[in-house]
Amino acid sequence: MQREPSILIIGAGFAGLGMALELMRNRIGNFTILERAADLGGVWRENTYPGAACDVPSPLYSWSFEPKSDWPRRFSHQADIHEYMRTVAEKYDLTSRIEFGVEVTDAEFDEQSGIWRVHTSDGVTHIADILIPAVGQLSRPALPNLPGIDTFTGAAFHSAEWDHSVDLTGKRVACIGTGASAIQYIPAIQPKVEHLTLFQRSAAWVLPKFDTEYSPLHHALFKYVPVTQLAERFAIWSFFEVLALALTDIPAMKAPVIAIADRHRRDQVPDEALRAKLTPDYAAGCKRGLFSNEYFPALGQSNVSVETTAIESVTPKGIRTADGVEHAVDVIVYGTGFKGTEFLAPMNIYGIDGRKLADEWSPQGARAYLGMSVPGFPNLFMMYGPNTNVGSGSIIYMLESQSRYIRQVVRYLTGKPGQFLSARPEVEQGWDDWLQRRLQDTPWNFCSSWYRNASGRITNNWPGATVLFRWKTSRFTPKDFDERRAARR
Ligand code: NAP
Repeated sequence: MQREPSILIIGAGFAGLGMALELMRNRIGNFTILERAADLGGVWRENTYPGAACDVPSPLYSWSFEPKSDWPRRFSHQADIHEYMRTVAEKYDLTSRIEFGVEVTDAEFDEQSGIWRVHTSDGVTHIADILIPAVGQLSRPALPNLPGIDTFTGAAFHSAEWDHSVDLTGKRVACIGTGASAIQYIPAIQPKVEHLTLFQRSAAWVLPKFDTEYSPLHHALFKYVPVTQLAERFAIWSFFEVLALALTDIPAMKAPVIAIADRHRRDQVPDEALRAKLTPDYAAGCKRGLFSNEYFPALGQSNVSVETTAIESVTPKGIRTADGVEHAVDVIVYGTGFKGTEFLAPMNIYGIDGRKLADEWSPQGARAYLGMSVPGFPNLFMMYGPNTNVGSGSIIYMLESQSRYIRQVVRYLTGKPGQFLSARPEVEQGWDDWLQRRLQDTPWNFCSSWYRNASGRITNNWPGATVLFRWKTSRFTPKDFDERRAARR
């Protein structure tokens, strides 16, 4: 039998687990997953805020090879998704392949021996032929840089670090942020708080959510006539592909989407003054489009105010806005998003000649051939790397494209100890030029969001339908890579 390369996967979220599943399903067994937390799940372990759910329906937001016939509803809640990940991991006996509580701090490639040395916070050095960081784009919460943020004397927490020991019943709560997280927890907490003040910097584009509870009949059909669930998956996938095309290739298709969002706002927000506040003043699709039937009605309740004056500072007792008003509150919830453009941070990754990956990407921002390979960083293949996030669609579909590609690389390197590959610089440059050309015409250029970094470059999003990415990554092509052999193997 030919010697398999050894593989280290960093992270046990959908990306890392999906990669491991792809290897196992293809009888490739020489891998270990390093996970910094005590449990698997990634964002679905971390984000436990009230109302946490997925705004992509579960028939699509699940592994294609592991359909689940008994999802309680179409848009699953966090606990059900986390449970699904655990169940699949156990089914494939993956849990025993994960080292929990192990945080990678540094990794360096040794050109002489062709191996990665991966250092963890417990002082251990792991070695591997192939390194697959699968640490997500949304795993590091971002707090706003507001003066006085540390002076607040009440409870304060980020949405991804929800403090469940704080009972919000009868409390005055400030919510900062109007993204996909806030739109879920605001309706969930509004009924119990005394007053909720939403500090809104940008109004969200909100579409109706075509949610439904699955009945026993659905479950029976999905189980015994699996093609029915496959049909739903296909319908949902097609819907999101059409939205993706509206964002990228066929902007004219945005008009009906905007009309639906406008209608939804008109129907759900009868109060004209409130509706004016909740009407976005930037191009639709620039920030992530949101799905909710509960967000607008919650904001219309008498115990809610929407504050659009900019926040000046946080004070010991609450939040001061630029008009000098101090809003006294008991609790502040920061729904202010994640450090999404800082790929692979805070890990230090060193490639050929000791080059540091963060320096290679500075100041312009992260980039990689197919979102996976960087010239000079051999046998490093990223999952959910630069420009692989979707503006519309299921990230799991994108991750499956990536894991299939990386599996082909692993096969290629099997039986070739000490062989290493990284994208050829001109191939990566051609890829990036193509991406940037396509990104030029997308709405993501017309506002600020976590899709763009400080230099204005869109580092996160894939500019097209997900099927285009699947096609681009369908076949590993050795000629796109510089291939060398270690001197000492
Ligand atoms: P986000 O989309 O980055 O939203 C952050 C919010 O905080 C924005 O409204 C932003 O305003 C606001 N903000 C940041 N700093 C501020 C400041 N100093 N003052 C006032 N407002 C401030 O974060 P998120 O809602 O956590 O979502 C992040 C991503 O996670 C989503 O885009 C999505 O990909 C993922 N997610 C997915 C789901 C799902 O159901 N699948 C659910 C939750 C999250 P501006 O817009 O003006 O910058």
